[in-house]
Amino acid sequence: MNVYLKRCTDYNKAEEVLLPLLKKYSDKFKTGEKVLVKPNLLSPRQAETGITTHPKIIEVILKFLLDLGTKPYLGDSPATSTALEAAKANGIYDICKKYDVPLVELDEPVKVDGENYKGIMISKKVLEADKIINVAKLKTHVQMIMTLAVKNTFGCVVGKEKSAWHFRAKTNTNFANVLIDIHNIVNPTLNVIDGILGMEGNGPANGFIKRFNVIGVSENAYVLDHAIIKALNIKEKYVYITKEAMKRGLIPHYELESDWEGGKIKLPLTAPIFETVTNLTRIFERVPKINKNKCVACKICENRCPAQAIDIDNNKFIDYSKCIRCYVCHEVCPQDAIKLVRRLI
Ligand code: SF4
Ligand code: SF4
Repeated sequence: MNVYLKRCTDYNKAEEVLLPLLKKYSDKFKTGEKVLVKPNLLSPRQAETGITTHPKIIEVILKFLLDLGTKPYLGDSPATSTALEAAKANGIYDICKKYDVPLVELDEPVKVDGENYKGIMISKKVLEADKIINVAKLKTHVQMIMTLAVKNTFGCVVGKEKSAWHFRAKTNTNFANVLIDIHNIVNPTLNVIDGILGMEGNGPANGFIKRFNVIGVSENAYVLDHAIIKALNIKEKYVYITKEAMKRGLIPHYELESDWEGGKIKLPLTAPIFETVTNLTRIFERVPKINKNKCVACKICENRCPAQAIDIDNNKFIDYSKCIRCYVCHEVCPQDAIKLVRRLI
């Protein structure tokens, strides 16, 4: 099992760095195969925000697949919009047009059972693919602490079903196991992480843009995530998905080939970094709070809240007795109008 972490400081050099890595896996793709390319199209944001997969990365992957004679198509099911809107905002739409590659919404749900969780609504367009290339971003995540390759396959779950899983799972540990079940169903052939630009702080959408200067590739998303976490000096126990993957025996021994120096990252305020903070979080926990001056009453958060805890018409009220602290509202707010504040339990 190999993981490649290669330094890349500029999207204009992405082909130089990424293409040789992809070519190591050429024999995994056959002429005529339908290959789904699954980027991170979280919401309609420009590529320079570090929130969504950069079009230059997608261009290298599509050229690689077309040269092999496969039939690539690109798709996602974004949290707050359509794949088309998100792809237009970030530039992936233009790349798909340039190479005549279909851009699809990951809709048409098919019920699939995971190892622990049953009845997961995966898009038919995912299940119909012969192969999948999962193209994630390197970002922090207020609920899961980090969002990397394993978390990126959550976008294969259709539309609002994603919010419903937050509610069904209830705890972060359970939710990490839902994500692992989904990832194992999707089972990408190859995983790429675009970490040239990413996000730290309260990601995945409302943190700070961070230049990590790395591209990661592996056939195994668990070890790819693990290698990045280690390079960023993050303890595995803080990253729910990696912690649960370790418990489930999903992180095998791997060979790391890297010229990336890694470094430090500001984790979200929700991360239990020090024991004292962990103790404090038993009494105080982070809850979402709407900044009424910034809020434009678009109701995206209300529509996406899995616990129906938000009532924008009622003076932008959040019912904390219903709120399950999934922070979806914080993730989806396009105005960065939701803060995570400490509150006595
Ligand atoms: S808090 Fe954000 S997402 Fe919610 S209604 Fe206001 S602007 Fe929209
Ligand atoms: S209010 Fe926000 S954090 Fe609470 S359940 Fe709804 S989406 Fe999740």
